[in-house]
Amino acid sequence: MFGKGLITGMSVTLKHFFGEKQTLCYPEEKLPMSERFRGGHLQLNVKKCIACQLCALSCPNKALTLKVTTDENKKKHMAEYVHNLGRCMMCDLCVERCPAKALSWDKNYERAYFFKDYMTYDAVEEYVPEPVEETPKPEPAEPAAPKPAPAAAPAAEAKGGDQA
Ligand code: SF4
Ligand code: SF4
Repeated sequence: MFGKGLITGMSVTLKHFFGEKQTLCYPEEKLPMSERFRGGHLQLNVKKCIACQLCALSCPNKALTLKVTTDENKKKHMAEYVHNLGRCMMCDLCVERCPAKALSWDKNYERAYFFKDYMTYDAVEEYVPEPVEETPKPEPAEPAAPKPAPAAAPAAEAKGGDQA
């Protein structure tokens, strides 16, 4: 039939024109990354980190440079956690190896840099503590309302009833 191809083509166009939108208005809108997406900056939870350095030891590309300090109680603290994105291949071995579950990806895929130096950052400096939820203070108890005085018994009942 003459024009069959045109009708088929237009039907596909109209279906997508009125159908569900498949595109985003980037960069105003951003695609949410899946749970398993690996990329962006490594986020270090400084409170969870036990400074064992297993992440750096398991990194095949030596992309992590750590500086650990020890306090007067011989407890280790992570002082610097330098991640070199230029060397990192996003293999996730460091995240998987961490026994304290202190590492995660920030999933920001907009990591194009003009200068090479910008690819190195300190995850300790970038650490933002989670806000502590304040427990609401209990309301001061209101003073109990005074109990109503018992009604006075009729004088006749008090004397033992009617004497007639
Ligand atoms: S993702 Fe892989 S290459 Fe990158 S820092 Fe972690 S272990 Fe190293
Ligand atoms: S493996 Fe985890 S707990 Fe150990 S130093 Fe690395 S981030 Fe900290």
